[in-house]
Amino acid sequence: MAFKPANNIQDLQYFGEFGGVNPSISDSSTYTFLSAKTMFDTFEGNADGCYLYSRHSTPSNLYLGEALAAMEGTETANVTASGMGAITPVLMQLCGAGEHIVSSRTIYGGTYAFLKNFTPRFGIDTSFVDITKLELVEAAITPKTKVLYCESVSNPLLEVADIAGLAKLAKKHHLKLVVDNTFSPLSISPAELGADVVIHSLTKFINGSSDTVGGVICGTQEFINDLRNVNDGACMLLGSTMDSLRAASILKNLRTLHIRMQQHSKNGQFLAEKFEALGLKTVYPGLASHPSHDLFKSMMNKQYGFGGMLTIDVGSIEKANALMELMQEKNLGYLAVSLGFYKTLFSAPGSSTSSEIPEDEQKEMGLSDGLIRFSIGLDADIERTYQMMKACMEELHVI
Ligand code: PLP
Repeated sequence: MAFKPANNIQDLQYFGEFGGVNPSISDSSTYTFLSAKTMFDTFEGNADGCYLYSRHSTPSNLYLGEALAAMEGTETANVTASGMGAITPVLMQLCGAGEHIVSSRTIYGGTYAFLKNFTPRFGIDTSFVDITKLELVEAAITPKTKVLYCESVSNPLLEVADIAGLAKLAKKHHLKLVVDNTFSPLSISPAELGADVVIHSLTKFINGSSDTVGGVICGTQEFINDLRNVNDGACMLLGSTMDSLRAASILKNLRTLHIRMQQHSKNGQFLAEKFEALGLKTVYPGLASHPSHDLFKSMMNKQYGFGGMLTIDVGSIEKANALMELMQEKNLGYLAVSLGFYKTLFSAPGSSTSSEIPEDEQKEMGLSDGLIRFSIGLDADIERTYQMMKACMEELHVI
């Protein structure tokens, strides 16, 4: 039977402490033991089901982790304080001094900065490659390489990674394939396609209400145990732990993700087609003109569509800024970074979320000045939204 991520979430059953339909929230940073021996065993990692200290794990965090693992089809998951709080410990756990990462060159600016500027201080080097060209990816692999890193759909250029192809390369060269699936939850299931570790920034679509940051690492029980190990686990020792109250609220939002993703995708597809028809340079994986349209189609869980992210290029940063300010004035969305909100969010990535990437490298990867990244909202009447956006574009002579 085909993998059904939303069913896996729906099928989880919870009974709270008093029979509540939501699990009770564990509002404690530390936990008692009936015997000193069990405490010792827990430190040794040998007391399954015992809680120790909330940086290690909490019942609320485990509930959310298990729901996200069910969504991604992995054995288990560990939730973290932010998306970066998921990405950084994974890479630090998998790589040490003298080792090497092959990464997509179009990734979230913070991840890029971490790999380019931060990990070299610990002797970890990264080669950035065009992830859509498997032969370039393979050519960059050296005997020191430990990790292939990519985003399923990249921020901000919406390049699509061939996850099954990358997984084959990873297997051949004994590497771990780590995939950030933040832009395409439910639509793409990287672990089903062979990824070893799947990461999300929960801050975005999964939580969906722009009220918190959060992250998750989905993987094998062995890897998640390693990350939580009190002696050398990067999650435990770097300490990017999610708060239990937040875990409980994100779990509740997760339950409507399938409905929200369908609406984000429906609206994204509608606007992308209209923008392209206006003659705007439009990038959206659901357009036949997208270079990886067929690849996305071959990987996707169809009912969730091609997602809510699209870009247009209006030619210059001045035009991009004027258009975004006007659209905000007309209440068509917010000039804000981030994504996955019920309102449309727009930003010019070159000067915001990708500003960590030097200008010459931005040019090389095709990140132009006039690029506007849209996270399309849940608008009930997307035709009206389109007409109003078109009027803004006409007023500013963008079209
Ligand atoms: N991964 C992607 C694709 C992102 O877009 C972002 C943030 O924009 C992150 C990771 C980082 O997530 P967070 O801001 O929750 O740390």
